[in-house]
Order: sequence, then C-alpha cells, then structure tokens
Amino acid sequence: MRIRVGHLYPDYLNIYADRGNIAVFSERSRARGHELDVRAIGMGDAVPAGEIDLFYIGGGQDREQALVAHDLAGKASALREAVDAGAAFLAVCGGYQLLGRFYRDVAGEEQPGIGLLPLHTVAEKRRMIGDVLLDCDWAGQTLAGFENHAGRTILDDDADPLGRVVAGFGNDGRSGFEGCRYKRAYGTYLHGPLLPRNPWFADHVLADALAHAGGPTELAPLPDELERQAHAVSAQRARTRGGKF
Ligand code: GLN
Repeated sequence: MRIRVGHLYPDYLNIYADRGNIAVFSERSRARGHELDVRAIGMGDAVPAGEIDLFYIGGGQDREQALVAHDLAGKASALREAVDAGAAFLAVCGGYQLLGRFYRDVAGEEQPGIGLLPLHTVAEKRRMIGDVLLDCDWAGQTLAGFENHAGRTILDDDADPLGRVVAGFGNDGRSGFEGCRYKRAYGTYLHGPLLPRNPWFADHVLADALAHAGGPTELAPLPDELERQAHAVSAQRARTRGGKF
C-alpha cells in the first residue's frame, strides 16, 4: 500500500529531531512492503481533502508556533473533517498545543488552535524538562520520551489522555495525565524523537493510517531488539530523574 503522509510545516516545527518520527514511519512501512509518500503542507498550502492518510506536526519554540498558528488555523475545518473522516494524526509538543483551542505563550500572546483536540494550553515561566514514562492502559503498553515545554495543557473533563504519568511532568505537572487521544488523532509532549524508542506506538498509528487508506491493518512483527533496549533505558532514566524542576 502507499501511505500518504501530510507533514505540516516541516521547516518551522522540527525541534528535538521530531522529523525522525517520519523516518521511523518510513522504515517500518517499507519493512512490511508498504511505501510512505510524504508531502509537506506549509504556509498557504491547501489540505488536499481525502488524500492524506496520516498527518504529522512537530514541536517548536513559541516564536515558530506564532509564525505558523494563523496559517494553521486557516486549515482548521479541513483538518477536523479529515480526522472525522478517519485520517490519522500525530502531533508533538508545540504542534500538539496548536491542535487544541489555543496556546497562550510565555509572553501572554494567544495563538489560535484548530480546535481538533478538547484542550487548551497556557504557558508558565518555569519550563517542564526531562525524561517521561507513561502508562497507556488503553493499549496495555508504556511510552517513554523526553519533554521540554512551558505550556500547561488542560484537558476537558471528557477528554481521553494518551497516558497516565508514571514519571515526569506530562500535560501540566499536576493532573497526572499526558497527551490526548481523539479518534485516530494523538497529541503528546514526548520528544526524543518519540517513535524510535516506542515501536508499538509507531505501528499503532501506521495501522490507523492503513485503515484510512483502505489497506490491510495487520503489521507483521519486527525484531525491535534495539528499540526495546532504547525504551528500557529511557524508562529507567525517567524513573530516576523525571518530573523534577
Ligand atoms: N513552545 C512550546 C512550549 O514551550 C512548545 C515547546 C516544544 O515544542 N518543545 O511549551
């Protein structure tokens, strides 16, 4: 199958090697005989309705978010319709914040979001930095990564978090939750990049994208020995030093 990926603002939102997540999607698709077809969707670009199986957006400093936020807000209804029609979406950190209603940054400026995820974010002076470990009971798995954000994300009461924080700060350093899930859209603060050390999640999102592409969603298991070791090291680091200012 050809999996069509829409990479939003790759030249603006790409800190902590977030672009590496695309490389993981590409390698894991190729290993199963599928092909990843990645197109950049940037400033002034339209969102091709029904033509994207998986959207991706990375993280960025407040400055970069401010540069793209209004253009992204102009794509809001097309992106919401695409997800409501079954497209998959992975959003990391600054990109995750802009999938909510708004992001009020450290300077107090309110960046509009696309209102896809039931949440809003307000930055505070002190940044939340460090290793993170999550328990994703909906998948019977854990996620490990690295966070660095000033934003405190507040989920609506009926929102589904991506995971429960075992170690680290997570959405706001208070609620005990991290990220958000809505249909086949996933938002998280976890950088690293996220996917090399969490292969099960890469496959989960790929299966969602394949379902949208009308393909077989079964993915043959891969050896993943190195990935499991990377996860274990990251998880141990989070347990020993995550969530401390
Ligand atoms: N600028 C946002 C914040 O500080 C997001 C940072 C990021 O993407 N790592 O919260």
